[in-house]
Amino acid sequence: MAVSLINLAYLFSTILFIYGLKGLTHPRTAVRGNLMGALGMLIAIVATLFNAKIASYEIIIAGLVVGSAIGTLLAARIRMTAIPQIIALLNGFGGGASFLVAGAVLYESIYLNENFSLQFRISIAASGVIGAVTLLGSLIAFAKLQELISEKAINFKGHNIINAILFLIILSFCGLSVYKPEETIFYWIIVALSSILGILSTIPIGGADMPVVISLLNSYSGLAAVATGFVLNNNSLIISGSLVGSSGLILTQIMCIAMNRSLAHVLFGIGSTTEKMTTKDDDIYAGRVKSVTPEEVAMLFDVARRVVIVPGYGMAISQAQYAVRDLFLLLEKNGMTVEFGIHPVAGRMPGHMNVLLAEVNIPYEKLKTMEEINTTFEQTDIVIVIGANDVVNPIARTNTKSPIAGMPILNVDKAKTVVIIKRGLSPGFAGIPNPLFAADNTLMLFSDGKKAVLDIISAVKAA
Ligand code: NAP
Repeated sequence: MAVSLINLAYLFSTILFIYGLKGLTHPRTAVRGNLMGALGMLIAIVATLFNAKIASYEIIIAGLVVGSAIGTLLAARIRMTAIPQIIALLNGFGGGASFLVAGAVLYESIYLNENFSLQFRISIAASGVIGAVTLLGSLIAFAKLQELISEKAINFKGHNIINAILFLIILSFCGLSVYKPEETIFYWIIVALSSILGILSTIPIGGADMPVVISLLNSYSGLAAVATGFVLNNNSLIISGSLVGSSGLILTQIMCIAMNRSLAHVLFGIGSTTEKMTTKDDDIYAGRVKSVTPEEVAMLFDVARRVVIVPGYGMAISQAQYAVRDLFLLLEKNGMTVEFGIHPVAGRMPGHMNVLLAEVNIPYEKLKTMEEINTTFEQTDIVIVIGANDVVNPIARTNTKSPIAGMPILNVDKAKTVVIIKRGLSPGFAGIPNPLFAADNTLMLFSDGKKAVLDIISAVKAA
């Protein structure tokens, strides 16, 4: 196929990527957006296969078959709650592929005795740095989310200074590699040191800041693809990498705002307190927690007019979304106004709760953002919190030493009665106690999320 035709196909795939991204901005168009992005990727791959430089197809086909098989298996078998880990892995693979391809092209160019343009030299070094930081950073994020290593922030004295010195050493080797690209050892030193930087810059991030780092690594994987796109002179890779890089950065910014964190705070701990929160569970809970039965919760609905349901990670874990939909329909049938309050970082991935509730056809207009729902809690009779903890924890407002200090929360404590469904008093992702569980207007229904909601439905029907 002529180069101009291949570029035309790339242009078409780029248009599909952009419209696909736009589709992903709303649940109603998200499935179509996803399909458009996948179609764009298919067109880009097929067009690339017509590249005249390809000498044989065997290895490419083998790669496509193995990659597609692994991708299909992952997509079919992965639990919804493990999606963040998978995203972290996929980001990492993107970074790894970028520096491996750049390395391979470097060897090919040396073998063919080609002239190295300045663009080529710089983008090779950039692929090595960004690709390796992304791969190792993502593997650490994966290990933390999968609880293979401690989820907590691991920090030591002088951490940021060591990272800064390491970065300067990497930059020096980048200079050497740009000056003498045929000395491939420089490239591999860049990759090795950047891998260490990837590890060192991800281990100090933990707790509630993990979603931000995942989306930042997503952005890095896009930038690594851009650098490799310049190495290969491949327009499609440059444009799609830029889209991933910029959308990842925008998402990072949105999540930082949602958690009231600055990017510097997340990455370097700047502005964060070194003092640890010392509050013990007993100081908060002892003698103050009131538990209820599903039948008692059902009785509360007799006089309620407005109900807000706040889902969290526990709803995803217990797969309670179908039962929640049935409860929502039942309460509305009984004359109550029911809305959902969705915190931007509820669950374990951006949009986690929206995806689960859209899956069970809860009308989109019933899903209210944190800003919208927070103005309504004072007029709300009952809030049902299902498996949410950190996103409703008032400590975020009061304790400056807590890991969620300053994070805007859903102000459910302002409602007349709060019913919290969870199995016990265990903390959420941030690992801290929650005074809401001991508040005067809070009732705890200790149970698995799905079972509790089904029991409430039965009790309401029996009443
Ligand atoms: P959370 O603070 O992690 O709390 C979840 C609660 O669910 C736990 O306290 C747990 O208590 C309960 N639970 C677990 N299994 C349950 C089950 N089967 N039935 C009922 N309850 C169950 O969740 P969240 O309020 O949704 O907050 C999300 C947290 O994750 C935030 O700290 C956020 O920063 C972080 N995070 C978010 C993302 C994202 O992108 N959304 C990504 C990574 C991390 P019991 O064990 O007592 O039942």
